[in-house]
Amino acid sequence: MKQREFLKKEKEDIRILMKFAGIYCRENHSGEKVPFAFKLFDIKKIERKEIALCSECTRLLTYGLTMRLKCPHDPKPMCKKCETQCYHSAYKAKIREVMKFSGMYLIKHGRVDMLYHYFK
Ligand SMILES: [Zn+2]
Repeated sequence: MKQREFLKKEKEDIRILMKFAGIYCRENHSGEKVPFAFKLFDIKKIERKEIALCSECTRLLTYGLTMRLKCPHDPKPMCKKCETQCYHSAYKAKIREVMKFSGMYLIKHGRVDMLYHYFK
């Protein structure tokens, strides 16, 4: 994978993934956290706000971003309706948990606008 321009939809998805992972980790995990950095792409161009994650969430987010950027479909279908099913099952369950938790968190805090892009 080499550096390239991001598509608008990719940017949205990357922002959501980062945002949701950040909320999930902050609300569920204590212990040592480090600012998230993604080696393959310059995500600072997309999401300037830094998030700090524990090692487990760092691994999960790295995986999620990698798979998102490798998605062979254009336009990308909803992951659950996709025939490729690229996520390894352990990660798939975990990502689903993160999305559900952070989605509920945003609803409770009146940030439904954040969800619009993800669930449309
Ligand atoms: Zn965490």
